[in-house]
Amino acid sequence: MRNREMKRMKEALCKLTHGQRKTLAAELAALEMRPVSTNIVESRITQVTACPHCAGERIVKNGNARGLQRYKCRACGKTFCALTGTPLAGLHMRGKWLGHAEALDAGLTLHEVADKLDIAVSTAFLWRHRFLQLPKDVKARKLVGIAEADETFFLRSNKGQRRGLNRAPRKRGGKANKRGVSDEQVPVLVARDRAGNTADFILEAVDKLHVWIALTPLLAKDSILCTDGSKALTAVAENIGVTHHPVNLSAGI
Ligand SMILES: [Zn+2]
Repeated sequence: MRNREMKRMKEALCKLTHGQRKTLAAELAALEMRPVSTNIVESRITQVTACPHCAGERIVKNGNARGLQRYKCRACGKTFCALTGTPLAGLHMRGKWLGHAEALDAGLTLHEVADKLDIAVSTAFLWRHRFLQLPKDVKARKLVGIAEADETFFLRSNKGQRRGLNRAPRKRGGKANKRGVSDEQVPVLVARDRAGNTADFILEAVDKLHVWIALTPLLAKDSILCTDGSKALTAVAENIGVTHHPVNLSAGI
């Protein structure tokens, strides 16, 4: 951009409304983050070793598609990229994905996420589901040492409130939420260890069986599991035979 144009743009900035400034700030942040997101997508989300269409292993690099390396399969002739066949395929605004992952991690509500990233609430809802569906290979396969697990819920409705089962959810910048379980709420189990390995699951039900199915493959016998002390988690910890510490996670212990 020429200096003259830049100067004009700076002058125009003064005329922006508060809402317009916020929109621009979000767009600028997304532009800055886009290369980082792309790197992560290409290096971590999928190690491209086979064709997602026919599983053929003779693949060659074939130009670029919207900033991502494109590949071509020698066997079926189709092209694809690191996202083809993953839950993130077809999602737009890649520059905002990292911000979204962070917001998800911080336990922001759908409305807070939408507001922060300047995206529609419906987009935040779609992304949340897609991110939670990411293939197992981007989730931790094993948690090591001290691990913690807790269940959380979020509403299917646009209100997007999250709440814990037996406690207020541990979150930053959130308000206390009401209690009560309904069909509208999706139970999610999140488990992580001190090394930063994280796994999350959408549970069909928060009972011993479903929690056990999710947690068993993740924990070694010598793991130490910290939980909020819910019935399901306590029973599962006992069943797997790991050391269990019920702690008040919401108090930051
Ligand atoms: Zn193929």
